[in-house]
Amino acid sequence: MEGDIDRILIDQDGLARRVREMAGEIAACYPDEDTGLVLVPILAGSIIFLADLIRHLPMKMKLGMMTVSSYAGAVTASQDASLTRDLNIDITDQHVLVIDDILDTGKTLRLVGQRLRERKPRTLRTAVLLRKPSKAPPDVMADFVGFEIADEFVVGYGLDYDGHYRNYPHIAVLKPEKY
Ligand code: 5GP
Ligand code: MG
Repeated sequence: MEGDIDRILIDQDGLARRVREMAGEIAACYPDEDTGLVLVPILAGSIIFLADLIRHLPMKMKLGMMTVSSYAGAVTASQDASLTRDLNIDITDQHVLVIDDILDTGKTLRLVGQRLRERKPRTLRTAVLLRKPSKAPPDVMADFVGFEIADEFVVGYGLDYDGHYRNYPHIAVLKPEKY
């Protein structure tokens, strides 16, 4: 796996520091006495970010899962997002925080936002680890952003290419011949 990596953009120490900081920003937004927080991770890219983030969040919460696919197989260009597994928990009148790995074209979070708003949550916010600012659409905002990155395809820390590299501990770019 290491031999496929061209360069590391954000190493695991940098990720750990920023994720801890983000947890502080998020915790400040949701007072502990205010019950009914539901985190909705978008599977599977957000799993490592989610696991690290929630262990720094002190408040009571539930987790609901959603699966959205935008990449089929060995492609790096975002396609139309489609919901492959819907939310498995009731969010009516709950504070909902969507967790995703990366905000690119915004198709994924636009679809997720539409689906979740139909269920009348009390509040709806979004936290993403990464954002590609060159493409970020004005109608899809993330309330919490870990890092802004340039417009290149990244892997690691949960993000895959054709199913691989989710377990690579850093955010990295593959060698050109691997795409
Ligand atoms: P969007 O729908 O905003 O274009 O893309 C969001 C989804 O596409 C993310 O949840 C992620 O799964 C995938 N994605 C976007 N950019 C990248 C990238 O650079 N690397 C990887 N591995 N996935 C990406
Ligand atoms: Mg995704």
